Amino acid sequence: MKPRLCAVNDLSLNNLGFSIELRHACDAAEKSTRFLNYLISNAIAAAPDYKADNTPVTIADYGSQIIILFYLTRMFPMDCFMGEENIRKVFMNNKQDGKNITNLVHSIFPEINIKQIESYENKNHSAEDRIWAIDPLDGTKGFIHNRQFSVAIALIENNNIKVGVIGCPKLYKLNSEKYSDREGYLFFAERGKGAFIKSLNGKTIQKIKVNQFNTIAEIIYTESFDNSHININIHKQIADIINIKKPPLKIDSQIKYSLVASGDVSLYLKFPRPSDYKENIWDNAAGQLIVEEAGGAVTDLLGNEIYYEKTDKLMKNSGIIASNKIIHNDVVKITSQLFRLME
Ligand code: AMP
Ligand code: MG
Repeated sequence: MKPRLCAVNDLSLNNLGFSIELRHACDAAEKSTRFLNYLISNAIAAAPDYKADNTPVTIADYGSQIIILFYLTRMFPMDCFMGEENIRKVFMNNKQDGKNITNLVHSIFPEINIKQIESYENKNHSAEDRIWAIDPLDGTKGFIHNRQFSVAIALIENNNIKVGVIGCPKLYKLNSEKYSDREGYLFFAERGKGAFIKSLNGKTIQKIKVNQFNTIAEIIYTESFDNSHININIHKQIADIINIKKPPLKIDSQIKYSLVASGDVSLYLKFPRPSDYKENIWDNAAGQLIVEEAGGAVTDLLGNEIYYEKTDKLMKNSGIIASNKIIHNDVVKITSQLFRLME
């Protein structure tokens, strides 16, 4: 079936029957995606600091999170928000950084009241809460080094992902024919309503589907750009066992999920390093829903469903397999055996 294409504006997301949550998540992700694009276009330096876990953070990460929190908290004040960055800490500990972040955000969104957001902290939440999992700049290393990065927002309700949005400012660098819009794209999904891609310049929305490849020769897989996040030797071993001929597409951030959902690749493999690494909810929730709504499957390396619980980590899961579903069980047979051998 030919994918449906239609010209839209924000209202037509409404006309297409999406919830208010999905529409506001898309709006917030679009604003942040444009913000990050603006920083890059204007060569605004992103010298990183390093957090306790030794991952980098820049004023772009903080600015993006402020934008998302501002627009979503005023719409959904009763909800719980779990953002990757600690906004409160940076504003308390470093007045100059706070000023720089404020100026940067105000240069594009002067209406944002930073005072409302600067003391915002992730709250402890109970399982019944509605939790927004936010990665304001997923793939900060990619952002710093001029590769891929994204903005991810998901709404999790009673441990189920309801809404997921991934903003991708630089997809044209991956495939300029298919993703020609230099302003970027949003991938989004709402549970039960399918998965879509929206071009930010052309304002078109298209339904997306995973590919139907089931022969090994056709399979392309994707993995982290950063080899320190994955067990690269095991990935090679898995590819050899399945007899995948093509080299992996190495990409930073949750865009890997988007590429499975849009049929560009058949498999996203994440055998973590160290092997007991626990994933963050904001690195996965939006991507998982988009893949599932596009007809794909997402589990951990043992084939277990992903449990979204009371913490910001996926404590019950190890690694990630996202696929076009057709090949999922075959892959999990191999990853589960290899994972058990390592335990
Ligand atoms: P990716 O580009 O898919 O490797 O994912 C980037 C995300 O991985 C970042 O948001 C980091 O929070 C997270 N990350 C950091 N360290 C690790 C690690 N050792 N293994 C897996 N993921 C990590
Ligand atoms: Mg991340």
